[in-house]
Amino acid sequence: MTRLGLLIDVTKCNGCYNCFLACRDEHYGNDYSPYSAAQPAEGHFWMQVKEIERGTYPKVKVHHLPIPCMHCETAPCIEAAADGAVYRRDDGIVLIDPRKAKGQRAIVSACPYRVIFWNEDLSIPQKCTLCAHRLDAGDKEPRCVEACPTGALQFGDLADPQSEISYLAAVLGPEVYHPEYETKPLVKYVGIPKRFVAGEVVRADLPGECAEGVAVVLEGGGVTLQTQTDSYGDFEFEGLEKDVFYVLRVQQEGYAPRTLEVFTRTDLNLGRIVLERV
Ligand code: SF4
Ligand code: SF4
Repeated sequence: MTRLGLLIDVTKCNGCYNCFLACRDEHYGNDYSPYSAAQPAEGHFWMQVKEIERGTYPKVKVHHLPIPCMHCETAPCIEAAADGAVYRRDDGIVLIDPRKAKGQRAIVSACPYRVIFWNEDLSIPQKCTLCAHRLDAGDKEPRCVEACPTGALQFGDLADPQSEISYLAAVLGPEVYHPEYETKPLVKYVGIPKRFVAGEVVRADLPGECAEGVAVVLEGGGVTLQTQTDSYGDFEFEGLEKDVFYVLRVQQEGYAPRTLEVFTRTDLNLGRIVLERV
């Protein structure tokens, strides 16, 4: 059984939008029926690149998350469509039949990922096809994958243990975007941003000197993490779970330890943590 999908490495995406532009170039004004009708000039993002800004100044991070149709194995769009207007091919690709889907606006709102777009002129729902028309014509990969300069997008057969995408998935341990939707996507991710806690340690008696090498411990959610401040006195814990209470301890010999409670509802910049001499 073939299961074509994508492995998207968020840590490699630089936000160049080449994938979005290649998708537009492939589909805008081009009718590939029965795979897809022509994409309109405006309002459609079959491959979106979502910019995610995290933290507060000066501890700010920006990530880019490419978001196509997830080609779900349990696809609400298929269930919402009448007359088999949305269907899954034997290779796992989920397609919208432009002829059968005419007038079926309910298909748009059925997708929890919001990756189906309504074409007002044609009165049809439309989305990413993984360039099924190209694959059937003998191409090796969708246009977005071909256009990505960083290797952030990998395409292949997730059901074939010998495929490169399966190898990478086994090594990198892919995640699902919004697992709570429970749709079993064939688009997997690596490096989806989680939460970070960062700050700066200063010593009250040495105000002009960076507090390098101070021990910082973060405990919570069943784990204990440890680090040391860098040469600027900064520290950071990355990849933390959301909505977890942690206790942060900052300690150095000769100084009173500091303890702070933090909750990872958002990314946290704790600012300056001052150590006093004992
Ligand atoms: S991401 Fe949305 S449009 Fe794509 S298969 Fe899943 S439910 Fe359907
Ligand atoms: S082409 Fe690649 S690097 Fe550029 S935005 Fe898309 S996924 Fe990211």
